[in-house]
Amino acid sequence: MSGAGDGEGEGRGPGTRVVGAGRRPEWTQRIVNPPVWRASTILYDSVAQLRETGARDTHHRLFYGRRGTPTQWSLADALTALEPGAEGTLLYPSGVAAISTALLAVLSPGDELLLVDSAYDPTRLLADGLLKRFGITTRYYDPTIGAGIADLIGPNTKAIFMESPGSLTFEVQDVPAIVAAAKARDVVTLLDNTWATPLLFPAIERGVDYTIMACTKYVVGHSDVMLGSVTAGPGRYEALRHTSYQLGQHVSPDDAYLGARGLRTMAVRLDRHGESALAIARWLAEQPGVARVLHPALPGTPGHEIFLRDFVGPAGLFSFVLDGGDDAARIALIDGLELFGIGYSWGGFESLAVPIDPQRCRSATQWEAEGPAVRLQIGLEDVDDLIADLDAGLARFRGARG
Ligand SMILES: *Cc1c(COP(=O)(O)O)cnc(C)c1O
Repeated sequence: MSGAGDGEGEGRGPGTRVVGAGRRPEWTQRIVNPPVWRASTILYDSVAQLRETGARDTHHRLFYGRRGTPTQWSLADALTALEPGAEGTLLYPSGVAAISTALLAVLSPGDELLLVDSAYDPTRLLADGLLKRFGITTRYYDPTIGAGIADLIGPNTKAIFMESPGSLTFEVQDVPAIVAAAKARDVVTLLDNTWATPLLFPAIERGVDYTIMACTKYVVGHSDVMLGSVTAGPGRYEALRHTSYQLGQHVSPDDAYLGARGLRTMAVRLDRHGESALAIARWLAEQPGVARVLHPALPGTPGHEIFLRDFVGPAGLFSFVLDGGDDAARIALIDGLELFGIGYSWGGFESLAVPIDPQRCRSATQWEAEGPAVRLQIGLEDVDDLIADLDAGLARFRGARG
């Protein structure tokens, strides 16, 4: 027993794995939480030693601050350990930086990207902006396409980007079917796995080449740090590492420390987020004024059967569609909520509610709904209190709708 790192055995449960992962004794010096090692300059004893270090592979060796210290390596190592079969992980200053770097590691001018139509809006902005400017074309595809993706793969298709479930509308993608079609044609697959994390969907084990998280959400868990990660499958790590180094990607050790601290409780937090969200989603589905609830664990959400087949359990972010009413009626619901904050991001301990308008970020499919929609992040408050708050909100909505 080395005293740390032993929790990461693949046969062990998620709680055990997040507690032990990445805590190598040579990095922690046996302090329970790997300390914050701040650095830009690393000093050498001699010019010979400086030259010798520079000539070697600097992976997991102190070289220069931008390449990290044990504080960042420990968190990256922990995220790798949570993805059975993964080769390595790199950290980024945000989820969007993780997405852009992973795509730049894979794509070159002339290549085509297949991007899921339900993707997080900034991912679309990257495809339609920087990637387009660099001569990379994007084709959007229906999130429910499954094995049908094979028909879209052309001679220039280099990569398929997935997000499952989608950020606003929660369609679950058939990741194994898309991965199989991609592998048959030598196409690289990337997945934004922020909603599920590897605890609910171990993406590398399912054959995905690059799995991406906005660690800002569940890994950090306390709404106080921006952080992203990309975990690479077999044979994929070197390309990502070189692109990251060339782009100068770096995460502060203080932020990495907070990410690692959040990670230790991620399994219990996710259990509670998921359990509460499911109870609230089921309650909402029965309420007058609610047309539909879009949580992958509920029947009626596109891909619900795939969710039951592929996911370990539910997470805490979902949407619901109101039955009629206009934006003003939706605002009456949201503005008066006492326990739900109004704001972007999610994955922290506090509940949040935001209006969503998915029709604004779609091109391959159409969003049709019975009324305006609301996205909820269910935090760690007590379910009965959150339901009472939403109950009063729906009464306001029905009153305003008339
Ligand atoms: C928030 C989010 C991101 C981006 O993460 P940031 O850390 O905010 O840059 C990417 N994907 C999904 C699904 C997200 O919810």
